[in-house]
Amino acid sequence: MTDLVVVGAGLFGLTVAERMAAAGRHVTVVDRRDHIGGNAYSETDAATGIEVHRYGAHLFHTSNARVWEYVNRFTAFTDYTHRVFTTHRGEVFPMPINLGTINQFFRSALGPDAARALIAQQAAEMAGRTPANLDEQGVSLIGRPLYEAFIRGYTAKQWQTDPRELPASIISRLPVRYSYDSRYFSDTWEGLPVDGYTAWFERMIDHPRIEVRLGEDFLDDGAEVSRASTRGRVPVVFTGPVDRYFGYAEGDLAWRTIDFEWETLPVGDFQGTSVMNYADEDVPFTRIHEFRHFHPERTYPADRTVIAREFSRAAVRGDEPYYPVNTPLDRERLEAYRALAASEPDVHFGGRLGTYQYLDMHMAIASALSMVDNVLSR
Ligand code: FAD
Ligand code: UDP
Repeated sequence: MTDLVVVGAGLFGLTVAERMAAAGRHVTVVDRRDHIGGNAYSETDAATGIEVHRYGAHLFHTSNARVWEYVNRFTAFTDYTHRVFTTHRGEVFPMPINLGTINQFFRSALGPDAARALIAQQAAEMAGRTPANLDEQGVSLIGRPLYEAFIRGYTAKQWQTDPRELPASIISRLPVRYSYDSRYFSDTWEGLPVDGYTAWFERMIDHPRIEVRLGEDFLDDGAEVSRASTRGRVPVVFTGPVDRYFGYAEGDLAWRTIDFEWETLPVGDFQGTSVMNYADEDVPFTRIHEFRHFHPERTYPADRTVIAREFSRAAVRGDEPYYPVNTPLDRERLEAYRALAASEPDVHFGGRLGTYQYLDMHMAIASALSMVDNVLSR
């Protein structure tokens, strides 16, 4: 007999399962996919031996000491430092915007103070106003010319929503630096799991009190472990989409999904770096990943490389939901779903899909640890 059912073997679900099993509980994890790891899953490409991230490239980073200590119990990390470049009108610039980007764009040689003064002048239209949306946030952070070159077109492709309707928070993830530091993330720790994401996740569930059932949908009433079979009998942690759980009773929450176009090319190096963004709207994809560059320490074939182009679009039911759009209507619907969730005290909603929040991996883990501490262990 199980003490807890965890729906979803993504990082939220795996963390809950691992902690609860360590605390002596029997845990059953169900996932509708045929693998563990959720969106952070990766596998070895059979033809080239290159580790590929099937649901989009995943870079681990955190400044949370508890999370860093926790993940290091299951895997060591390489010293990979993520850097991104962006192509705008046939020219390549470093991303996020830093002194290198600014000086290349303006054909200048400004120091930090002069660059700050220039950007302040270019953001003057926002002076004294609190940015109310992504468009205003962009202009106030980097001024209109840089915003229009590097953010507006990319964001339009990524979200296909008027940037004035998107929350400012989407780009507050992206730093602006008045130095030549071109690291993509500003966190204390970053790196990639030395022997891959899947080896890491397998160690998390390698416990006699954890049973994992793959290829089973919890919302399929015919499944052995389902909403119908668990109701009133065993507590559930649900990390699938909250709107689907409630039969979309309050309307669909809006998500973005990504179509990946995979290609194996007969060259040893296609673009010289792991991620190249494409800022302009006339290029239909947002970015190209070249997976070999995530592991320069590995020996990969010298004559073949795997790339994936990302095309972003609105998700419809049945698509993989990737990014919550979070318009005011979505916030309203989410409140209604939260009220419904409150009426099911034995079902705990967590993770990116269960709470309709953009969570990085370290945030999903931190939030799972606090659910274990504050809710499940009581
Ligand atoms: P998920 O990983 O989505 O796992 C949920 C699981 O629940 C899935 O496996 C799903 O199959 C299962 N499920 C859903 N419904 C049911 C059901 N009814 N029955 C059974 N199973 C069900 N984070 C970073 O830190 N760095 C990055 O570089 C990064 N890049 C990203 C790129 C993309 C394109 C995306 C989409 C996300 C990225 N993230 C990144 C975020 C990262 O993927 C999430 O933080 C992490 O996946 C959250 O884990 P989760 O467990 O909440 O959800
Ligand atoms: N962004 C942009 N230009 C870029 C990179 C990012 O405008 O070259 C914006 C865009 O709105 C995007 C957001 O910043 O949705 C967050 O980017 P990030 O790379 O963090 O998102 P990811 O897609 O990797 O989650």
